[in-house]
Amino acid sequence: MSARSWAEPWKIKVVEPIHMTSRREREAHLRAAGYNTFLLRSEHTYIDLLTDSGTSAMSDRQWAGMMMGDEAYAGSRNYYHLEEVVRDVYGYPELIPTHQGRGAEHLLSKLLIRPGDHVPGNMYFTTTRLHQELAGGTFHDVIIDEAHDPASAHPFKGNVDLAKLDALVKQVGADRVPYVCVAATVNLAGGQPISLANLAAVAAYCAPRGIRVILDATRAVENAWFIQQREPGQRGRTVAEILRALCDLTDGATMSGKKDSLVNIGGWLGLRDAGLAAKARNLVVVYEGLHTYGGLAGRDLEAMAIGIRESVEEDHIRSRIGQVMYLGERLTQAGVPIVRPVGGHAVFLDAAAMLPHIPRTEYPAQALAAALYAESGVRAMERGAVSAGRDPKTGEDRFPRLELVRLTIPRRVYTQAHMDVVAESVATLFERREHVHGLRFTYEPEYLRFFQATFAPVGADVVLDAEDAADERAPAFATP
Ligand SMILES: *Cc1c(COP(=O)(O)O)cnc(C)c1O
Repeated sequence: MSARSWAEPWKIKVVEPIHMTSRREREAHLRAAGYNTFLLRSEHTYIDLLTDSGTSAMSDRQWAGMMMGDEAYAGSRNYYHLEEVVRDVYGYPELIPTHQGRGAEHLLSKLLIRPGDHVPGNMYFTTTRLHQELAGGTFHDVIIDEAHDPASAHPFKGNVDLAKLDALVKQVGADRVPYVCVAATVNLAGGQPISLANLAAVAAYCAPRGIRVILDATRAVENAWFIQQREPGQRGRTVAEILRALCDLTDGATMSGKKDSLVNIGGWLGLRDAGLAAKARNLVVVYEGLHTYGGLAGRDLEAMAIGIRESVEEDHIRSRIGQVMYLGERLTQAGVPIVRPVGGHAVFLDAAAMLPHIPRTEYPAQALAAALYAESGVRAMERGAVSAGRDPKTGEDRFPRLELVRLTIPRRVYTQAHMDVVAESVATLFERREHVHGLRFTYEPEYLRFFQATFAPVGADVVLDAEDAADERAPAFATP
């Protein structure tokens, strides 16, 4: 049998030109951005792997749907379409749209958490935990230990450790645990999935104790694909069926449509309890907008309704994760230390392993992300101590075990050729890793500091030493 290459299951109708910059230009852009890739301008970026959030390419059907926006203040047709799709695909009867995922987290945290409560979760997510803390709750990580080990090959590194959950509930009492927040997949563990069996066990544990189970459904479609591929007995089911099975085990979900659902903006809170939904509908008016638009235009609601349907198509999800796997494979071949197994939305570089000469107090992952931009114009994101922030009680830096740089792949935006360029850029930087310098803060904001902090290199003028006599690197294109 002859080999048959993989190809994207779409063809290109509109293109957006991108530009390669010189090493000298990138050096200046980095300095102006305080060595924080969040503060770089998009137009100075060659391949933008900062995030998969809101960066998807919409389909022709979604763009056509945008023209069908019913921009009524109340009762827009597009709201009812979205409600129908969420009920069908995710199975939550009550839908409260929000401008994005954190809007839903805000409403949920305000409704369910009382000061002094405890909220367990399978690893923290930045905005999720902050909303829990602002509502007076304390977050507790109850993910399995394997999630914190970048070398563990566990197929479901997102799983909840039931023993950890039980120990917490026994310690604080079930009445101080309003809900368990289960993310599928787990972003900060490297896009790692949970198994259906694990979520079923969590639900069975929580139900008799009166503890709700809330799904962070942001990448639950990607999680469903992993279940289809890896969980015994699931091969014969569609991704859509598995997604529904995941949701059926939970009492509600917060959703960022900017990830799985292939839109640039949008989110929602899905619930089963009509009484709780009525309260959420009242609160959404205060923070987002009327309950039939939740801070979104009618056209945004329509694009999300269509995007949800496209997101569960088997061809789409297979190629989406296949592209991420491909990049992970190429980096592994080059000997670059990455989190294994590769997750659904991103390849995570193990910055602590890559840069052992930079102490954790000089933020190796922040330095690696900056150096990658200097080297290649590829923009990535820090996911380590800078993202973890400070402990609200002690004020000390939190040093999570994982010190990572995330190469996040937008959906339907880049081709396999772009992935080759990225792999070659990272491999080149890996060879020159001793030339990367650590960073120190020059400005540190109070909330979610990773977004807006600025830095300066420690003991050097640049984050990545220039190559001998070669300021201008050749573009990444090689002539075949
Ligand atoms: C992005 C994200 C959120 C927050 O959603 P926004 O749309 O960015 O507000 C919540 N949870 C997870 C796992 C996410 O990745």
